[in-house]
Amino acid sequence: MMDLQLKLQDPLLLKAHCYVDGQWIGEPTDAVTNPATGAILGKTPSFGTRQAMNAVEAAERAFRLWAKKIAKERSAIMRRWFELIVENRSDLALILTSEQGKPLAEAKAEVDIAAAYVEFYAEEAKRVYGETIPSHRADARIVVGKQPIGVVSAITPWNFPCSMITRKAAPAIAAGCTVVLKPAPETPLSALALAALAERAGLPAGVFNVVTGEPSAVGKVFCDHPAVRFVSFTGSTEVGKILMRQASDGVKKVGLELGGNAPFIVFDDADLDAAIEGAMVSKYRNMGQTCICANRIYVQNSIYESFVEKLATRVMDMRVGSGLEVGVEQGPLISDAAVAKVERHIADAVRQGARLVIGGKRHPLGRTFFEPTVLAEVTTKMLVTREETFGPLAPVYRFSSEEDVIEMANASPFGLASYFYSSDLGRVFRVAEALEYGMVGVNTGLITTEAAPFGGVKESGLGREGSHHGIEEFLELKYMLLAGLNG
Ligand code: NAP
Repeated sequence: MMDLQLKLQDPLLLKAHCYVDGQWIGEPTDAVTNPATGAILGKTPSFGTRQAMNAVEAAERAFRLWAKKIAKERSAIMRRWFELIVENRSDLALILTSEQGKPLAEAKAEVDIAAAYVEFYAEEAKRVYGETIPSHRADARIVVGKQPIGVVSAITPWNFPCSMITRKAAPAIAAGCTVVLKPAPETPLSALALAALAERAGLPAGVFNVVTGEPSAVGKVFCDHPAVRFVSFTGSTEVGKILMRQASDGVKKVGLELGGNAPFIVFDDADLDAAIEGAMVSKYRNMGQTCICANRIYVQNSIYESFVEKLATRVMDMRVGSGLEVGVEQGPLISDAAVAKVERHIADAVRQGARLVIGGKRHPLGRTFFEPTVLAEVTTKMLVTREETFGPLAPVYRFSSEEDVIEMANASPFGLASYFYSSDLGRVFRVAEALEYGMVGVNTGLITTEAAPFGGVKESGLGREGSHHGIEEFLELKYMLLAGLNG
């Protein structure tokens, strides 16, 4: 713990307790480790049912006051939170890389987008407009207002330890809701640091609570407690389905940002170099551990060989190492299980005839470091077609026609992100409209921004985060019929 604390400009950002009702509480028991070194960075409490209920009840009490604050007051506090995140960018990035592994430059970029969500929704808080509707009665008026939904429970994954939190908490808090959050056990320190900054910004006690602990016990309270009105989850489809079932008893609203299996299509009329750059960023960012990572790369026959060769050349140059070292582009994977999944996908593909172009094994650095890998001649019967790899493996498929590739791309129960490269305007519209995905990147591999609605269709989830749509998720419509107006 001391090691990381010594490196921080503000050591007080490294927390060992949960943040509930404005208090830092709990006995630190569960170790948080650095995936690059195995060093223990700190410990956090292991909360169970009772403590999770206390947190929900604190949020319930805080809701009564927070919901009544005028939007401008909520906005001002959030604006201060945003400024503090920006001011503490270096420390937040250091904490993030230490517990998650991604290169420091990527961690800084994540802190920037995490801050951007807070800034965006601080502004959006002031623009929650209702409407009047032409009435069906001469003596009456129809007025529709918007009110915060209530206590929001949020569960977030380890792959984006800062931005996945503010993408939910900022719109919820801006709308007048209060939040109980359980971050992933691998990466609780970023979440607690964000809470420390929220406290400094003047967010009242109970508005934003962070509990660490036993996932299923806390998750059950987050879904069952009568005070919770919205269960917001980012993580795997498997766990999302469990939470959705649990939330159904109380007829709670759910927001689910789940797994993906993104197709990345390169047509022969594309700018090949741009497509390579897009594939690199989409595939290898965060060591391939993003829900919107290119998971299946489809390349048209006539440019197939040159694409594979250029991609392998770029991959060969990637530097693997601790995310804290300057120039490193690939850090360690989050766990042994993550490495085992990549190995399983490679072994299955090679056994069925795929060609290993580069990489393919654990990196000499040991631990969970893995060589960035490219596989060619991948076919749809292979495991990697059906499952999200969540690692630095680029499987490259061939295709011949637009119709065929659309069919292959859509042959998945997932529908989060998709990408394609083409310079033909007609094709751009045809393909973008035909892809059964919530998001389509055209001639780009990077689609995330706070200004756009992020989310999936099919088994990739329900609802959207980001943009002005993101705040609507946390608001209920209230219809008022004002009658007897004729005097
Ligand atoms: P995960 O296994 O579903 O875990 C997510 C969170 O849920 C963790 O905090 C986890 O804690 C917790 N959890 C597990 N079982 C639970 C239960 N029964 N009740 C309550 N909480 C429970 O996912 P992950 O491996 O951390 O994240 C990777 C997945 O997230 C990928 O599928 C990725 O595509 C998806 N993802 C989606 C988006 C999006 O916006 N659509 C963004 C990022 C990631 P434990 O770790 O202790 O189990």
